[in-house]
Amino acid sequence: MNKLNQLTIKQAKDGLKEKKFSSVELTQACLDEIERVDKTINAFITVTKDYALTKAKEADQLLAQGAIKPLLGIPIAFKDLYLTRGIRTTAASRVLKDYIPQYSSTVVEKIENAGAVIIGKTNSDAWAHGSSGENSDFGSTKNPWNIHKIPGGSSSGSATAVSASCSPAAMGTDTGGSIRLPASFTNTVGLKPTYGRVSRYGVVAMASSLDTMGHFTKTVEDSALLLSVTAGKDKQDATSLDVPVPDYANELIKNRIVTIGLAKEYFSEGINEEIKSSLEQAVNKLKSKGFEIKEIGLPHTKAALAAYYIIVFSEVSSNLSRYDGIRYGNDRSYFGDEAKRRIMLGTYSLSAGYYDAYYLKASKVQTLVKQDFENAFKQVDVLIGPVSPTLPFNLGEKVNDPLSMYLSDVLTVPINLAGVPSLSVPCGFSDNNLPIGFQIIGPQLSEGLLFSIGHKYQSLTDFHTKTANI
Ligand code: GLN
Repeated sequence: MNKLNQLTIKQAKDGLKEKKFSSVELTQACLDEIERVDKTINAFITVTKDYALTKAKEADQLLAQGAIKPLLGIPIAFKDLYLTRGIRTTAASRVLKDYIPQYSSTVVEKIENAGAVIIGKTNSDAWAHGSSGENSDFGSTKNPWNIHKIPGGSSSGSATAVSASCSPAAMGTDTGGSIRLPASFTNTVGLKPTYGRVSRYGVVAMASSLDTMGHFTKTVEDSALLLSVTAGKDKQDATSLDVPVPDYANELIKNRIVTIGLAKEYFSEGINEEIKSSLEQAVNKLKSKGFEIKEIGLPHTKAALAAYYIIVFSEVSSNLSRYDGIRYGNDRSYFGDEAKRRIMLGTYSLSAGYYDAYYLKASKVQTLVKQDFENAFKQVDVLIGPVSPTLPFNLGEKVNDPLSMYLSDVLTVPINLAGVPSLSVPCGFSDNNLPIGFQIIGPQLSEGLLFSIGHKYQSLTDFHTKTANI
């Protein structure tokens, strides 16, 4: 059997129910692993050891009474953008270095009400600005598969915490790829839900019209379980969708054989050959099980990247204006280079005389990108594509070249602009043993379908069971 810290949520739940171990033992195993590896990988900004053990003890009492809750006694880590009442929340920026929130985000509350144990707050690019994790004011996170490589960002610490078995699951945020990219780089499963499926209330805002709250797990099955807890309407977030939350664990086991679209723009030049061939094998595997494959086009893929960065910078310049150092946090001189760059460019693209040329035009491109996906989903049920055009790159390789860093997101941002869900699933390793993932993209609110395809794929393959040797 796996060590306790290596269990999936499902395995841990079963073990707790059968009294094979306690939540305190499970939580302690995760804390011990953090203690052992975090010096090397730097996945955590804050480890909530005492709080976690207290909560685990409470969970054990409830378990002894026969209580049933979806995540009772399960440790979970949160990207340090999720407000946690009484627990420091930094957004990985020196501006909020000592900020202790007065309230918790809706997702934190839901997960705690489901019985989970908060084990710590994870590292990320400051304010979630980045693709590598290197923009953190708390030091870069390292990829457990090769500590000279980046783990992907911006949810670098959450991906790494799960990949290195410090926590069976972790929450992240995805505005332009920040869950899927690090998931594909660390051999974990990453879900970016439909915009509005999960409440954004109480999570430090990056670009409010695109921010989505998703998570990392070891399996698709766990991803489904977790979304059943986090999803749903929240009166505190006007953009949250008032649509019933299905039992995703039930959706998962529906054997749905559907038509898969492959967008030619996602397999064009510039995509690493090893990634292409892993994807081809994944597609063939599904084809052999009866899935139909069809080639389609997403013609505005390239324009999406430019539009994304204009829209995001504009919203960032507005959202970061609240950090004025007066009510809370340090003053604006504490912002790092990337935040400053985004504030300046975003203010520029919103200012009188430039608005029409930049922001308005980008909004029009967003409509075209949305239409690309709408047209695609008239022809196919889901799309499959690579997550990243490249393998995890070296630490330091792109830090001085923001443009090449932004290009890492070329295959993820169109999905955010369209507001649709996407699930990143491990599908292989490069010759030098770096993880590769693919994404399954569906129409709005099709998470159940994505889970059923992802789960089917994981029942046919064992990539997700491989762990980094750290
Ligand atoms: N890398 C993208 C950016 O820097 C995405 C960030 C995100 O999804 N939070 O904007």
